[in-house]
Amino acid sequence: MSPVSDKRDYYEVLGVPKNAPPEEIKKAYRRIALKYHPDKNPGDKEAEEIFKEAAEAYEVLSDKERRAQYDRFGHKGVGGAPHFGSVEDIFSAFGDIFGGRGGSIFEQIFEGFAGGRGGQQRAQRGRGAHLKVDLEITLQDVADGVKRTIQIQRSEPCDDCRGSGAQPGTSPVRCTQCGGRGFVAVQQGFFAMRSTCPLCRGAGEVIERPCRACAGSGRVPKAREVSVSIPPGVEEGMQLRLSGEGEAGPHGGGRGDLFVEVHVKEHPLFRRSGEDVLLDLPVGFAQAALGAEIEVPTIKGKSQLKIPKGTQSGTTLRMRGQGLPRLDGYGVGNQLVRVLVEVPTKLTAEQNDLLRKYAALEQQNVGARQKGFWDKVKELFE
Ligand SMILES: [Zn+2]
Ligand SMILES: [Zn+2]
Repeated sequence: MSPVSDKRDYYEVLGVPKNAPPEEIKKAYRRIALKYHPDKNPGDKEAEEIFKEAAEAYEVLSDKERRAQYDRFGHKGVGGAPHFGSVEDIFSAFGDIFGGRGGSIFEQIFEGFAGGRGGQQRAQRGRGAHLKVDLEITLQDVADGVKRTIQIQRSEPCDDCRGSGAQPGTSPVRCTQCGGRGFVAVQQGFFAMRSTCPLCRGAGEVIERPCRACAGSGRVPKAREVSVSIPPGVEEGMQLRLSGEGEAGPHGGGRGDLFVEVHVKEHPLFRRSGEDVLLDLPVGFAQAALGAEIEVPTIKGKSQLKIPKGTQSGTTLRMRGQGLPRLDGYGVGNQLVRVLVEVPTKLTAEQNDLLRKYAALEQQNVGARQKGFWDKVKELFE
């Protein structure tokens, strides 16, 4: 049994009468393709089948000769109709009819496939490249959020030719080699292969007289300022995506995106651990022993911290809610203060006297940790 026999009639597929003019066929196909595009119907196999079926029907009916063949002989007459294996194939065949230079709805819908198409069809009129810039901000900016203006150099559509690449007053003409399809059939042994048209390199059209201002590329480099809002709580290395702020595409293609990679400058006092701020606080031996109330710096200014009596060196004290805002907007971190007891390296005569007196008393009242340590030594070695 021939697989051809289960096929639906192409006119039926597109829902047009047998005598429909080319414009109507094109319109019908565009409507179906937009409705059943896999991007709009993720995971929906049925939609994908309809999408492919419509593409096949359009492939035949949009070609005058093949349509005539089909009208006379039915599916057998166009036995060579390609079966589209993937959505990418369909785009590379018909991208042009969705028309609209520069970011039509369809271009946006197909955007997701731009990477997977091997850069053939859209090499000529694709989306522009993405750009990346690095931006350094302070920890203070992380706390408050910040707006910055970035200077970038990017390609912009040429004013003279409005991005078409064709000299003003002229326009690109349909490629004579491929008839505007962007691909040509090549015989390789027994197989008919499809290959990107060598003349138009897949664009389907050719610029005969290139614009002088942009040498036919449709783009010129320009300096631009882009403003970017950095949200509070942003993290080191995070990339913010500014859609459509990248390079303009060749010949009126859509823009790429601009990625801003955030780098947080090291702070002389504070370090960061997620939404917590870490601070090392040196204190005197007496302050740690007796307890103290100390004014410490925080990311928001200054705040009182109570050092409890008998605080050991290395103890971390938590200052609740004095950290950084969370990126999701829910809550604020803490400031974690690590207390470092400083042993004096230089003593005045008076300090020396006092400490010697203190040492004498210490001999009689040994601290709990020291006592525990020497008790263990005794157990093990004596
Ligand atoms: Zn130009
Ligand atoms: Zn061509």
